[in-house]
Amino acid sequence: MSENFHKTTLMSLKSRIMLYTVLPVLVIIIITGGFMTFSVRKVIDSVSRSEAAGSTELACSRIDYLISSFGETVEMKAASEDIERFLQTASDRDAIIDNAYFSYAMGELDSTVSDAPECLERTWLVSAVNQGVAFSNSSDGWTARPDFGFDEFPFSEKFNGSERYFITDLYVSPISGKTVISAVSPVRDRRTGEVIGYFGADLKLGGLWVKISELPESKNNEIYIVSSDNTIIYHSDVNMIYRRFSRLGIKPAEKGSYNDGERELVGSTITPASCGWTVYALRDFTSARRIIDHQTRITVITFLAVAAMLAVTISIVSNKVVRPLQDYTKKINSIQLSGDNGTDDDFLTPEGCRELEHFAVGFNSLLQRNHEMMSQLREMNIKSEKERKLYQTALESSSDVVFEYDIETDCLITYGSVFDPDLPKTVANSHTAFLKRVRSGDGFRAKDTDITTRFFSGETACGAVVSRIDVNDNVNWIEFSGTAVYADSKPVKIVGKISNIDDVVNLREDASRDRFTGLYNKTTTETLISERLSKGGSHAMIIIDIDNFKNINDVLGHAWGDSVIKDIATKIEALLNCNDIAGRIGGDEFMVFLSGDDVSERINGLCAALCDSIRYTYSDESLGKEVSVSSSIGVALAPEYGRDFKELYTSADIAMYFSKNGGKDRFTVYSGQERREYKGNRAE
Ligand code: GH3
Ligand code: MG
Repeated sequence: MSENFHKTTLMSLKSRIMLYTVLPVLVIIIITGGFMTFSVRKVIDSVSRSEAAGSTELACSRIDYLISSFGETVEMKAASEDIERFLQTASDRDAIIDNAYFSYAMGELDSTVSDAPECLERTWLVSAVNQGVAFSNSSDGWTARPDFGFDEFPFSEKFNGSERYFITDLYVSPISGKTVISAVSPVRDRRTGEVIGYFGADLKLGGLWVKISELPESKNNEIYIVSSDNTIIYHSDVNMIYRRFSRLGIKPAEKGSYNDGERELVGSTITPASCGWTVYALRDFTSARRIIDHQTRITVITFLAVAAMLAVTISIVSNKVVRPLQDYTKKINSIQLSGDNGTDDDFLTPEGCRELEHFAVGFNSLLQRNHEMMSQLREMNIKSEKERKLYQTALESSSDVVFEYDIETDCLITYGSVFDPDLPKTVANSHTAFLKRVRSGDGFRAKDTDITTRFFSGETACGAVVSRIDVNDNVNWIEFSGTAVYADSKPVKIVGKISNIDDVVNLREDASRDRFTGLYNKTTTETLISERLSKGGSHAMIIIDIDNFKNINDVLGHAWGDSVIKDIATKIEALLNCNDIAGRIGGDEFMVFLSGDDVSERINGLCAALCDSIRYTYSDESLGKEVSVSSSIGVALAPEYGRDFKELYTSADIAMYFSKNGGKDRFTVYSGQERREYKGNRAE
């Protein structure tokens, strides 16, 4: 694949990541942000609006309470005993005018209407007894007001005397010409309950407004008092408010949100049941709107910041994905996928698809092979473990000792069970020392030193059989067997086992021995001699036949004959070396076989010693009889007079008969002439 292809592919991958990941996330964030901003804005608006409405409503209710308490105060005063007493003397008009006590009562009234002292325009009394003559309290004191007609009061017709007090609608006082609210309460005869007059008070609206403006709830509100016909509006700046009020198109008893073109407003109203006017309060919503806008900006900025952070995060992640992919493509480049023309402008071009498919098939095959290899490896491990356990069990249950012999360093290491604790220690210290001991017969004796030497040189895998004589003079047989390990065609190690072959040797010995004398039987004798002869070298075969042996049987009896044969066998063995072979090859016929370069030298001395030793007179005192025996010996040297057993036997046999014919009790060393002459030499 070309570099262009990878760049194009990675570009495509980047744009795909942007297209399928970043853009959807950004869109979701923007939509969610917009929705949440709208919701937050709506909630804040709603909360602010209800708060504003609550505030205006509270202001209205406080104003209602203020005016109601004014009415209650008037009613309470009208019921007082002082007013009643006054009314009892009210028939005398002059007395009323001059009555200082009345003035006092009015003064007290002023102080009693303490809720609105600045608002109290005047107090007045109307005598029902004297046909509605009115008295008014002014700065000059109480004066009769003939111009004051009770019927002119706006509430006069409605007032039927049964109510506790009544508050008028706002109106311009016909007495003072000021805008007032009047409160009237009937004054009754205590005994009859009959209304005998009216006590009233006017409240200046200007003063009322001062009280209203002192209410904490009205601080942020614009307060209107609207008449039932929507024409009388009370405010400190009546004209201005009226204009605005008209412009807004607000009607009494309406509440809601308004916009006067400059500000956003929230309005609330309250209409007391006892009068026709309405208190209207408007709350400026502009400051709340500013808070809402501010909150909206914060929300939008927060969402944008989150979106930006998310975009940056995704960008970083995509780079983290793309970079490893770059490395990956470099690796793909290195395996030289073919078929790329370097002009691909899409990630999955047909050629790219083929290459990827090819790659995928190869990769799958690799995975499959890997899986199979892992399975095989597991099986091998299991098998190996089983074999190891088997081997360990076999080793532990075996009496053999496993050894490893390093030929170069002459180091012998033993493993496994130890049937004889001393053996591994003895042989492992040094093979050289061990071999020396074997050769010198120091505790060990090789059955065949030649084989033993060749075995430990790595030349042969044949077992080296070594006997060991223990402290009790018992003979133990051990056998080394193993395989040589080669390096550069040269044996460097021998790995094998050391076995105790006592039983095997004994069995073999039993089979090979003449059970009567303990010497080798005829077959074994022939076998052993044939082995020796096959290796070449100098040898000597000696045949010994007892002379006149029949006489033993005939004179002393057969049992004597048996014991004499055993005795002679012992005598023969006593004269031999350990390497010599001695066997019984017939009834009274024995064979001795010597090997080595010194056989010629040994022959005469040995044969003479044999004749001397065997020559003996056996006597049975109980029988009073005795028989003398001797031996006739024939010797043949190899390889001069025979290269195999048969040839050599013939030669030795001729020599033996030569001795027999020569007068017995002598030995003859075959020289070739005996075949013709059969002339023996007497032993010295
Ligand atoms: P020669 O001097 O010519 O050898 O005469 P010989 O008396 O020794 O007779 P020969 O060697 O021909 O025969 C050996 C005899 O030994 C034959 C047999 O009766 C006797 N004999 C062989 N084996 C045994 C044995 O195991 N026990 C006994 N008691 N006698 C045996
Ligand atoms: Mg004989």
